[in-house]
Amino acid sequence: MHCPFCQHEDTRVIDSRLAEDGATVRRRRECPQCSERFNTFETAELKLPAIVKSGERRENFDERKLRVSFERALQKRPVASHDVDAAVRAVIDDLRRSGEREVTSRHVGELVMRELKKLDQVAYVRFASVYRKFEDVHAFREEIEKLERDLPGLESLQLSLLGGEAAAAAAVKRSRKS
Ligand SMILES: [Zn+2]
Repeated sequence: MHCPFCQHEDTRVIDSRLAEDGATVRRRRECPQCSERFNTFETAELKLPAIVKSGERRENFDERKLRVSFERALQKRPVASHDVDAAVRAVIDDLRRSGEREVTSRHVGELVMRELKKLDQVAYVRFASVYRKFEDVHAFREEIEKLERDLPGLESLQLSLLGGEAAAAAAVKRSRKS
């Protein structure tokens, strides 16, 4: 890195040691031009990205909200709570690993869908339908068709579980007949 004293383009690491907490590396550097010495500290970037909602609104990542999304989709579904914990953890790890400063709420939604799909197909369709708010009935139909290919015979069960979205489900059936 550049020397903060004379702005020389390169500095030499003359010592490197792990801080007591084991999470920080301290490096002693020396500038070959002005001979000034200084320390740098290296820590893992673990901050979670901010979530960009539609309309450019930003908010801090909230693990509680993420968990609620899973719990709503999984309501009354036979999924163990430690599996839900693992799914929440998987989404958080993914966001952390991305190293991004911000991600769209849509991206988070896709990660939730990916995990729900592994956990429970019904919860997955529930989430996908609410998440997409039926703005695009075509997209919803595609999800159902994908599911049918994966698990033939589940369609009627899933559609009946969608309850409030019955009208949209009917629309899907209608459009399929035409
Ligand atoms: Zn210097």
